Amino acid sequence: MKRGDMKRGGGDMKRGRPQHGARKPSHKPETFSDRTTPKLGPDGLPEVAITRRGVERWQRGHPWIYRADLAGDPALQGGEAVRVVDTRGWFLGKAFYSKVSKISLRALSSEDVAIDRDFFAQRIAQADALRRRALPGEDTYRVIHGEADLLPGLVVDRYGDYLSAQFLVKATEERKELLADLLMAHFKAKGLMNRSDVSVRALEGLEPQKGVIRGEVPATVGYAEGLVQLHADLLGGQKTGTFLDQRENHVMASQYAQGEALDCFSYVGGFALQLATRAQRVTAVEISDAAAAQIRANAQANRLGNVEVVVANAFDFLRDAVDEGRKFDTIVLDPPSFAKNKDAIDAAVRGYKEINLRALQLLRPGGILITASCTYHVDEAMFEDMLESAAADAKRRVQIIERRGAGKDHPVLLSLRETRYLKCFVLRVL
Ligand code: SAH
Repeated sequence: MKRGDMKRGGGDMKRGRPQHGARKPSHKPETFSDRTTPKLGPDGLPEVAITRRGVERWQRGHPWIYRADLAGDPALQGGEAVRVVDTRGWFLGKAFYSKVSKISLRALSSEDVAIDRDFFAQRIAQADALRRRALPGEDTYRVIHGEADLLPGLVVDRYGDYLSAQFLVKATEERKELLADLLMAHFKAKGLMNRSDVSVRALEGLEPQKGVIRGEVPATVGYAEGLVQLHADLLGGQKTGTFLDQRENHVMASQYAQGEALDCFSYVGGFALQLATRAQRVTAVEISDAAAAQIRANAQANRLGNVEVVVANAFDFLRDAVDEGRKFDTIVLDPPSFAKNKDAIDAAVRGYKEINLRALQLLRPGGILITASCTYHVDEAMFEDMLESAAADAKRRVQIIERRGAGKDHPVLLSLRETRYLKCFVLRVL
């Protein structure tokens, strides 16, 4: 999370006075030693003091404060809503506290508001209001995108009458029942699936969990993407059931589809089916049998008889297709994340280069490549450099037609731009 920007700004702090959000200390300031029993603020919430560097970060709007920026080690269990103060006790805001994670504080508000039922109800309504404006008429979208919706540690996707949620930190895990009630009430939903079976919970000392926690959820739920009807399995599917971040890109892909098309890493066919609405023939390549079966079912339900599903490793499929001299007019590459941490970046870029190079070799002149990366550690500049190098090796001249990202229901906090993980380029081979 190094943005190297801590040297800039913060001039106000040099004058030793928090500028905005600061309130008078609620107690006589004192120094903080290790394992301090936290003071309680006027609202009964414990106070957690942060260092000057932490204050600078907080005031720049960064929603995370790391353990190294805490002034002392508060004797708390983790999961609490706390008052964030500077070392002299000046109020800065409210946050969720985590004892286990390196991220100790996750910002909730810079105001001295109660962190209660109304607070969470308002946050949910505020998040949903954005989707209503940005995606009018849609009933399938990401409702809550964690920190970016000022609800850290909570992800909620809506599939019509059904919701699928991830409680990613101890604070949201402990408020799961309340949040589930509020979400059910706001959306008048019929059921809520808990898909907290994700490894990041381990960083908070939490076990994976999944299952229906409110109402009932059918085996698959249907939703539309443009002209295409899809089904997702909220219990057994990947993520919260499917990849809602690519919805707008799926629909966009239909516009470029032509001739013979190929969709690699197809999952349930989000891209493949869009391509099939315009292309002559589509080959969907997917390694998982269950996902491949769902592509077939989705193609059939949409009466798209021009989709061939191949269960294979896309790396092998692409290599063989080049060896066999096959050609395509439209190709989509949307693989899973290739790097879970920074050490794996080089290998990830090599993986991207291999598949993009092959795809460029497979395209006829005038062909379109829609290529995505959801690897958070490979940023847009690195991805674009990789594409340049792949094009050079493939000896193809390539135009960039569109540089896209996740849909509008996946907002990015300006002060946490690193969370803009999804890149999606539309290229044309000359
Ligand atoms: N393109 C999809 C999302 C892809 S998620 C969409 O738009 O909805 C990545 C998919 O790639 C998963 O379904 C996973 O099962 C599949 N996958 C992972 N490794 C693969 C490989 N080596 N070859 C083919 N498919 C793979």
